[in-house]
Amino acid sequence: MTAHGTTQRTAISDLIARFDATVSALDPARFSGPEFMAIVSQIEAFGRRADALRVRVAAEATRRVDGPVDTLGAAGYASAEDGIAKLTGASETDAARRIRVGLGVVPGASLTGSPTAPRHPVVAAAVATGALGIEAADILMKGLDSVASRVDPVTLAETEESLVGLAVGSDTQPPLGVDLVRIQLATFLLRIEPDGARPREKRAQKSRRLTFGVETVDGLIPVSGLLMAEVGATFKRLVDAHGRKVAFLDGAETAPAASDDRTPPQRRHDTLADILSAASRVKDAPELAGSAPAVLVAVTQSTLDDGRGVGFIDGHVTPISIDTVERLIDSRGLQAVALGPTGRVLALGSTQRCFTSAQRRAITVRDGGCVIPGCTTPAGWCEVHHVIPWRAGGQTHTDNGVLLCWGHHQRIDSGPWRLSMPDGVPHVRGPGQVEWTPTGQSRVRTLLSRTG
Ligand SMILES: [Zn+2]
Repeated sequence: MTAHGTTQRTAISDLIARFDATVSALDPARFSGPEFMAIVSQIEAFGRRADALRVRVAAEATRRVDGPVDTLGAAGYASAEDGIAKLTGASETDAARRIRVGLGVVPGASLTGSPTAPRHPVVAAAVATGALGIEAADILMKGLDSVASRVDPVTLAETEESLVGLAVGSDTQPPLGVDLVRIQLATFLLRIEPDGARPREKRAQKSRRLTFGVETVDGLIPVSGLLMAEVGATFKRLVDAHGRKVAFLDGAETAPAASDDRTPPQRRHDTLADILSAASRVKDAPELAGSAPAVLVAVTQSTLDDGRGVGFIDGHVTPISIDTVERLIDSRGLQAVALGPTGRVLALGSTQRCFTSAQRRAITVRDGGCVIPGCTTPAGWCEVHHVIPWRAGGQTHTDNGVLLCWGHHQRIDSGPWRLSMPDGVPHVRGPGQVEWTPTGQSRVRTLLSRTG
């Protein structure tokens, strides 16, 4: 505790007590029309002053994230956003906005520690007096920042002044609502940066790329690239929606969060695998050499029979384990090719051991998606897994196939989840559990059972 802190907190407590005493007698129903309109703006001005203080303390939180003592980090908060959200009960989105606005309006510090002007001084002054609301301030600062690197500072400062002037209004002009602020901002930005988005997008178009690097010794394929905003955003949305740890499913508490030891980058990888697996199953996917663009894996019959050894993916030098071969056969099928000693093709089997699309549809109706509790991967992205391995006599039958996402399919044999199919109904046994429990119902099944 510091003297400054104690004094300030006492002062604010006194202020709140006086505020409560003042407004306890307030009865909105008893105002005349003009009085009512006046009191609405008066109370708004009051709220905005509190908002100005909120964003100031929120910005301060960013300086107090790390450190061994006396910081948010030491108190157990993961980030400034986390700290503000938990301390205030605000959403993380709102906490992030408070911090963003706060950082734009608080004075900075020079290298020597002396205060410098805030990044957006006109916005800052308007926020401090309550003339400008937080939402409008956020919109204006984001817009100004987006062109700051390409517009000269004087023009930028003039634009800030004009926009804030319009937003807060004057004796002759009423203040603008947030939606109108947005429109005015777009108009101004177009004027000061006439070719705006177009050349930037053209530059981006030219730089877009996706590159595959040289295989690592472990057989990993490096990927790098620059995605166009819309492509990257779509990808991120898909990955965020499905790569999240989910602690609850259909109201029943499960423990996947504890058992999902994948790091976020690993989960992103697995979601990409799901998406690719779904894309390669699309009926009219482009064909490669006359067949769907599935990868070709070569493996000998004796390796398959023994369950020991390796296979090779066409075009790659690093061998893949028999487990991976088995998984690929489960989901992509197998075609036996008998080669003579000279390499001549002696016999060619038909594709087998792959669930047909009719079986897959039936399993989809039953499972609805990945059967591992808490996993939200939709059916269309899943692979069908032989619960009793094909090698151990497991049939390619709906009673022996369940939907698993790529990540869970890959790790199903190493745990922690176990699957069984008593009477053809998928059951799962989680880490540390003794009992088998039926997996969650698909939405279709739930709806069907409700209609009796
Ligand atoms: Zn899954």
